[in-house]
Amino acid sequence: MDLILRLDAKRCADGVGRVRRQFSWRSRRHEPVVREAADLGNPLVIHFLNANTNDKLIDFLSTFGLPGGFLLRTPEKRAAVRFLSLSDVPEEFRLGAPDGDLPFESSTFVWDAQEEMRLLLRDATSDNAVRMEKAATRALRLACRDADPSAVGRRVALTVPTLIAFMCFEVYMVIENGAHVAPCTRCKLLFLYGKGTERRSTGTYCSANCRVGAHRESKRRD
Ligand SMILES: [Zn+2]
Repeated sequence: MDLILRLDAKRCADGVGRVRRQFSWRSRRHEPVVREAADLGNPLVIHFLNANTNDKLIDFLSTFGLPGGFLLRTPEKRAAVRFLSLSDVPEEFRLGAPDGDLPFESSTFVWDAQEEMRLLLRDATSDNAVRMEKAATRALRLACRDADPSAVGRRVALTVPTLIAFMCFEVYMVIENGAHVAPCTRCKLLFLYGKGTERRSTGTYCSANCRVGAHRESKRRD
């Protein structure tokens, strides 16, 4: 079966900021984050895991949107309710009204999501058949939980509304391909290597930049 995978999420056109313990949209202006097909050459899950400071996370969330839908406060501002997509927001939440609330997410949720993806990817690349199978099942469940299937010609298109779902599909593809993950010797950022990725073998550097940089640094030391 041929599968087309689509991410159909929204991000704030003005990015997100960190307010107290939350990542919040800076304005109501939004634009789609569209991605077709998981691409192990440039996987979102690796970008997410490498966003290991608040500043880097703000860059990531501004580029790709909040990872698991978003929270909005009820009109009485008492509780926060989670929505997966802007079109799910009922009228009474008054998104777009002058006193309406902006979509936000708690920092804890984002850091927890990152930890979950880290563990999932660790099992996915463990070379242990039992752990890999468990990781594959978990990744598929999370990816398909809110997925919307449709037929496109003779193929199946699966549209997912959240980054988490899309990244889980990437992890599933890592397992399918038997790809691996490693930290760069120079900058410590993670990168994928093996089938389906841009790199065929281990290598020790994440990029040509780091390889050249490390080479220069070692010359300077001589
Ligand atoms: Zn590097």
